[in-house]
Amino acid sequence: MAGEPQDDCLFCKIVAGHIPATVVRETDTTVAFRDINPQAPTHILVIPKVHYRDAATLAAAEPAITADMLRETGVVAGEEQLESYRVVFNTGSGAGQTVFHAHAHLLGGRGMHWPPG
Ligand code: 5GP
Ligand code: ZN
Repeated sequence: MAGEPQDDCLFCKIVAGHIPATVVRETDTTVAFRDINPQAPTHILVIPKVHYRDAATLAAAEPAITADMLRETGVVAGEEQLESYRVVFNTGSGAGQTVFHAHAHLLGGRGMHWPPG
């Protein structure tokens, strides 16, 4: 069924507590944890507890949970005392997506260029 945990999904395993992660915040619908391979001094992933393959698919199926995920990026950014930060949704392998469970990257703590390349 749509949104159900997937046995072969790394982030579903983190949600279930079967794989450890450095969790910084959890709500009824989301989990935020530190990226294992940080690309900035602060690099946190905010994910929905439900399984959808990417953020756009999540948004089509579960707009309220998508809003929760986006709101949590701001809450965590505040807790991390980030004045400036970037939120990224890599969508598709050509854009660098490697884990096909929707997630927002929250990146901050260093200067960032635009366009990102
Ligand atoms: P994507 O490349 O799909 O946009 O982002 C997936 C992110 O998950 C990557 O930044 C990667 O470093 C992170 N990641 C992969 N495996 C693990 C893990 O086991 N634990 C944590 N905390 N992050 C992971
Ligand atoms: Zn999943």
